[in-house]
Amino acid sequence: MTRPDPTAPPPTGQRLTLFDLPLDVVTLEQTLDRLGAWMFASPRTPHTVVTLNPELIVQSRTQPEFLRAVREADLVTADGVGIVWAVRQLDGREVPRAPGYDIVKGLMERHGADLRVFFLGAKPGVAEQAAQNAVRDYGIQVAGVHHGYFDQAEDQRVAELIGASGAHLVLTGMGAGRQEIFNQYWRQVLNAPVLIGCGGVIDVFAGTADLAPAWTRKLGVEFIWRVGLDRKRWNRAPRLAQFVRLVQAEKRRMR
Ligand code: UDP
Repeated sequence: MTRPDPTAPPPTGQRLTLFDLPLDVVTLEQTLDRLGAWMFASPRTPHTVVTLNPELIVQSRTQPEFLRAVREADLVTADGVGIVWAVRQLDGREVPRAPGYDIVKGLMERHGADLRVFFLGAKPGVAEQAAQNAVRDYGIQVAGVHHGYFDQAEDQRVAELIGASGAHLVLTGMGAGRQEIFNQYWRQVLNAPVLIGCGGVIDVFAGTADLAPAWTRKLGVEFIWRVGLDRKRWNRAPRLAQFVRLVQAEKRRMR
């Protein structure tokens, strides 16, 4: 078999498999187009979106419920350079990135006042601040807000609240795993056309967490800032190291 030309991007619309998880080959622009079409389609049909990063891959290997939620997602994008690197190592190809923050910001910029957004997650008060800032900066409509610190026994109540809100877009930022499982399990009750697990994006909109500096994001090396320079995230380094080991072992196995 001839190896694919590493410089040629794979045809779009393609779905790859990376450590038993799907990965869609889509650019940011294509992601925004697809989510835009889903959000304003009639009848409303729920779709789940996962932005894949190395930590999620490591986590999925010990959490079957989480693995299932990602496998059943309607769209799985490469959140950062770690995923791009892994695909390059294992498949010899370049895949584009569509990071969660860029997706959410892009949707708000594109759709502004036409867009009803529900902010679910982060500590009490943070989602309210994020929503206010998004209204000020992009003129979106706020379908509702709810913090992300509630027991599983309350999942249904929160899902019904969101289901009644008429949101086009639900930002679920409750920590990796919890957010993807919540979106997937409750998708029919949530009844919003786009449900995206978005980690700390609500904090970034609220201004309570900094986005990695623009230069690191441009180079696709924001993990250097996140893990190396942000002390709060030093506990993440072992998972990233584990990911590198996983990729290397897989590469050896394929030889
Ligand atoms: N978070 C939440 N509920 C929880 C745990 C986390 O709402 O039970 C929020 C947290 O406040 C932050 C976001 O989820 O806004 C991402 O949290 P963290 O960076 O700890 O998780 P990661 O997604 O990186 O694992």
